[in-house]
Amino acid sequence: MGEFPAGGNPAGPSALPGRRSLLLAAAGLTAAGLAACAQQPDATPAARPDQASTPVVEPAGHHPVVPETRPVPPSKSQIVAEFSGRKPVEWGLGVAGVVTKTASTHAVLTFDACGGPRGTECDHRLLKTLRRLNVPATLFVNGRWIKANPGLAAELAADPLFELANHGFRHQPLSVSGRSAYGIAGTSNVGEVYDEIMGNQDVMEQLFGKAPRFFRAGTAYYDDVAAAITHAVGLVPVNFTVNGDGGATFPAPVVASEVGKIGAGQIVISHFNQPAGGTAEGYERALPRLVDRGVTFARLGDTLPL
Ligand SMILES: [Zn+2]
Repeated sequence: MGEFPAGGNPAGPSALPGRRSLLLAAAGLTAAGLAACAQQPDATPAARPDQASTPVVEPAGHHPVVPETRPVPPSKSQIVAEFSGRKPVEWGLGVAGVVTKTASTHAVLTFDACGGPRGTECDHRLLKTLRRLNVPATLFVNGRWIKANPGLAAELAADPLFELANHGFRHQPLSVSGRSAYGIAGTSNVGEVYDEIMGNQDVMEQLFGKAPRFFRAGTAYYDDVAAAITHAVGLVPVNFTVNGDGGATFPAPVVASEVGKIGAGQIVISHFNQPAGGTAEGYERALPRLVDRGVTFARLGDTLPL
């Protein structure tokens, strides 16, 4: 359970939504769940200044100097104006626009830290294993987890083995119409989608001095309009090809079995905020075998061109 059929591309742009849903259901993904992700959101992002009018630095008597930074994302009001009339046609884990695999020869391990009442711990055993085997990974961190673990988050951000990515501010399913997943209400409009993405983006950029390139919604659910909004604000929405730990609910042998199947181009989702689960032990079993088999690993940013 948890892996798409061999050769299948359920989330590819050419796949029909109905076909995709059937494949996801067949793979157990809609029911297996991402339980560690299924936690209620809290808090509200701070108001973000409208960046549309970010001034260019212009010393007196000189031509304007444009700071060498990434492009300024559209403002909330611009996003609301552009997307508010659009009706979503898809809802799920593999909607149009969400990346679920790469063209790389490497496999990509992604681990989420969801935050919230039962989600703010850190699986140090898992991180230790990754470091011992020198296996890189992309870590999707939620704003609530960062708030509970600021020192640890900074340490992970400074470790070149890892790449930090954005797992949302309040850990909400990303919907423009209030759809829910696992009983958790999603964002209810375009403005809330913007806040869910950019609230945590601002936190991460300010704390770590680097803006994440990748986003994964809380519960991993999106509609296609929300996925398009994610692209519009400069991030790539990412899900997965292989569900490695079923929301940190799989026992270690199942984690080892699922992760043990992975190969080039696949993106694996697991969690590093549930140390009581079987995730760390499962990876301890699977990773040495994968390395022996010649499977290589890279961070998402090393496999997806800018
Ligand atoms: Zn999560």
